[in-house]
Amino acid sequence: KKVCVCCGTSCMASNAEKVLEQVQQNIVALGLKDEVEANLTGCMGLCNQGPLVKVLPDHTIYQKIAPEEVADLLKAQFVDKQPKKEKLLFADTRPEPFVNANDDPFFKKQHKIILKNCGVINPEDIEEYIAYDGYKAFDKALNSMLPEDVIAEIKHSRLRGRGGAGYPTGMKWETVYKYVNNQKYVVCNGDEGDPGAFMNRSVLEGNPHSVLEGMMIAGYAVGASKGYAYIRGEYRLAIKRFETALKQAKKLGLLGKNILGSNFSFEVEIRIGAGAFVCGEETALIASIEGKRGTPSPRPPYPAECGLWGKPTLINNVETYANIAPIILNGGEWFSETGTAKSAGTKVFALAGKIKYSGLIEVPMGTSLREIVFDIGGGIPGDGEFKAAQTGGPSGGCIPEQHLDVGMDYESLMSLGSIMGSGGLIVMDKSSDMVDVARFFMEFCMDESCGKCAPCRVGTRMMHDLLQRIVDGKGTQHDVDRLQELAVYVKEASLCGLGGSAPNPLLSTLRHFPEEYANRLVSPE
Ligand code: SF4
Repeated sequence: KKVCVCCGTSCMASNAEKVLEQVQQNIVALGLKDEVEANLTGCMGLCNQGPLVKVLPDHTIYQKIAPEEVADLLKAQFVDKQPKKEKLLFADTRPEPFVNANDDPFFKKQHKIILKNCGVINPEDIEEYIAYDGYKAFDKALNSMLPEDVIAEIKHSRLRGRGGAGYPTGMKWETVYKYVNNQKYVVCNGDEGDPGAFMNRSVLEGNPHSVLEGMMIAGYAVGASKGYAYIRGEYRLAIKRFETALKQAKKLGLLGKNILGSNFSFEVEIRIGAGAFVCGEETALIASIEGKRGTPSPRPPYPAECGLWGKPTLINNVETYANIAPIILNGGEWFSETGTAKSAGTKVFALAGKIKYSGLIEVPMGTSLREIVFDIGGGIPGDGEFKAAQTGGPSGGCIPEQHLDVGMDYESLMSLGSIMGSGGLIVMDKSSDMVDVARFFMEFCMDESCGKCAPCRVGTRMMHDLLQRIVDGKGTQHDVDRLQELAVYVKEASLCGLGGSAPNPLLSTLRHFPEEYANRLVSPE
């Protein structure tokens, strides 16, 4: 039996470390140390209900546990064998909270590939990762597959990059593989910067070895001997756990020269981002790793051909790499059976905003927004009513109530003027002001614009100021027309994706909530 204490950033912020300490001490005090283990884990998914304590193998989850409640809780669970009902997950909101939390709609409607062991294993212990089939896929790739076979399997899976653009991962790998060069690189983009997004952070904190294993398999497949994990500087816990993962893997001979007696050598270094949103853009990220100012460059050439220090470079994000080991272990066919015809597999979303259960979820691609918001997320708190959901962060758009049944996949979201992005999902209720939402995201892009090209540097400021005029009740129809005109210029003439997608929240709110703009306008004098 195990008592797992969630020690992801959210739960740590609510004193989870003290709770873990109490669990460890009370297991001894109650004479349970021969039958019960205490374990720290990564995110269990219910970030606003923490600190969370999970009992395995029953999957009983307790919420909002204070350190001083731990002794009673353990006694009820293991001595009296009567779960402490009032502390069970959802005790305050569900008529009958489930003792086995996996039977609750929050978990039942999810399908976990990436997060399967997040919240179960200790992310700081490689032995636990190995006990749950960790590094088996790497071993399989290295010892029984040619690099071409690995790439073919990834292509067969139909996995698409989870960083936002949705480019087929196998094709990207094949391109890098085909360039002949004695030095190639593999880069993990962990510079998650969208407001409200915390998917990558949680995966790195909760299962860092899964990301490392994905990078190692990628290195073997494309012929790279060096990897860089570029992690956002604010993600201190994620950096610390990834560092630990690197040290442990090295100690076991999984990194370094001639790994496991093969011809394959691979090392990984961490690079810490300094907080610029634009460094999530791959050419800016490359410049930043090289020690230069993180600004984007025109493409082509693409990083696959001419990336880090001019060498062929594979860049994928955290979630993409975390999908690799399960695909190699179970086969591309197995992976492609989940999701939709064009968007295979699952997607991790960070549920935030006006929603009862905010947190980290993983669902099959194509799951409807309605299921995510109402079945998994528990709907809007209090008397609130759903108004819109923002996907794709500052590059995305708002999905209104009449499209609640849209499937969350690349194509369906695009047809509504939004994008999947990396998985940020912010829910808004009727009290949200959609013009102000557009203004907020424009302000974000204006602040984060690196200033290298005028359409973005000047255009985002002009659009922001026009939106501010409308929010202040001073805008006219002429301002709206001007906004639409500028949106086209900025979209088409900006050098990188930041400027190219900055008008999206504006355009989608104009498309789905035109009355909110109309109601604010004044007649020109
Ligand atoms: Fe910089 Fe914006 Fe131009 Fe991108 S579009 S290069 S962020 S100024």
